[in-house]
Amino acid sequence: MRVLVLGAGFGGLEVTTLLSEEFGEDVDVTLIDQSDGFIFGFSKLEVMWGRALPSAVHHPYSDFVKPGVRFVRTTVRSIDPVTKRVATDAGTFDTDILVVALGADLHPSATPGLVEGGHEFYTVAGAFALRDVLPTFAGGRVIVAVTSTPFKCPPAPSETALLMHDYLTTRGLREGCQISVVMPMGVPIPPSPAASDALLVAFAERGIEWHPNRLVRGLDPARKVALLSSGDEMPYDLFLGVPEHRVPLVVEESGMAVDGWISVNSRTLETTFPGVYAVGDVTSVGTPKAGVFAEGQAAVVAQQISALVRGTTESARYDGHGMCYLEFGQDEVGRVDVTFLSGEKPIGAFQGPSPSLAADKAEFGSSRIQRWFGRTWPVTSSV
Ligand SMILES: Cc1cc2nc3c(=O)[nH]c(=O)nc-3n(C[C@H](O)[C@H](O)[C@H](O)COP(=O)(O)OP(=O)(O)OC[C@H]3O[C@@H](n4cnc5c(N)ncnc54)[C@H](O)[C@@H]3O)c2cc1C
Repeated sequence: MRVLVLGAGFGGLEVTTLLSEEFGEDVDVTLIDQSDGFIFGFSKLEVMWGRALPSAVHHPYSDFVKPGVRFVRTTVRSIDPVTKRVATDAGTFDTDILVVALGADLHPSATPGLVEGGHEFYTVAGAFALRDVLPTFAGGRVIVAVTSTPFKCPPAPSETALLMHDYLTTRGLREGCQISVVMPMGVPIPPSPAASDALLVAFAERGIEWHPNRLVRGLDPARKVALLSSGDEMPYDLFLGVPEHRVPLVVEESGMAVDGWISVNSRTLETTFPGVYAVGDVTSVGTPKAGVFAEGQAAVVAQQISALVRGTTESARYDGHGMCYLEFGQDEVGRVDVTFLSGEKPIGAFQGPSPSLAADKAEFGSSRIQRWFGRTWPVTSSV
């Protein structure tokens, strides 16, 4: 049984690790990614705020060594989901089982004026560049805004506003600054009223302005104003945006995407093509786009593949459960636990914020690096 996994992010690393743990050399797994290493989404923020060096949050795929798994660094150029044939810069791959875990591509240039007149903190390049930009900011109006939906890690803009408050306070600039958050939702974390309330209280305590139910559609760099979906304009001195998300072009061209994302059976992660699964941000499975959900989906796919290899019937079903850590700043972290696919309205339980949950978040990161890359890793490193 040949298994080909496209994308070595949260989903791809987890499904290949589980298959290796179960079958070792008895299964033929190939993992493809165009990058040279893995970086957690939350590590982008660590680098951006100068809390970690870029090299400290980069996990080279050369360290991803698993029995039965071959890692190939190359770019996927085409996917035929019918024949399960994948063309890459390193040649063509045929497989029995295909797992598409290629994530969401980010398009800063899709928002007029963003590249010319603002910054984005979602790509590795954008977040890492901000590490040098933020120290040059002399104060003024800061906008943290979402430019389109869906977008990954829905708490990240709120976290960024709170961490910006800390950053400006430490630099002695906070009094002369205004921080505004522009979000498409009515509350920061819609499935968790308790987490939303805690964030709105934290915003109010810190004087952060909350602008719900709108997007920033573009920037006018000449006038330094953000153009909102509501028709309003907001002046800014520093603009930090969440760029537009799309499936990678190779997925779009494969014909697998329906209404922008790969449609899957939400319980089994099967696509409409036999022997082809999809997990994580590339899908429209019904959970938010976040690593914890990609990881949970990968576990179900690994069990499905295991059953196919063993010739047994697999009953593992994805339930849409995940938990998310929320940076509140001041070295405190909150936690939301929520289940999306139970058939009932998801209600996220909320804990914290507290320093002990900050330690739990650190453990979350280091445990993944230990399992995937076989080494210890601190979540942050001093610079
Ligand atoms: C600022 C920020 C903070 C975040 N914080 C959190 C958090 O605290 N918790 C959380 O759970 N999630 C968080 N996330 C979201 C999380 O990073 C993503 O949801 C998660 O990585 C999705 O996993 P995935 O496996 O679907 O895709 P990804 O992890 O994006 O992996 C996709 C892989 O596919 C590869 N790829 C794409 N196209 C090609 C191609 N054509 N050829 C070869 N390889 C290709 C990419 O190089 C990539 O490695 C955050 C995201 C951001 C931006």
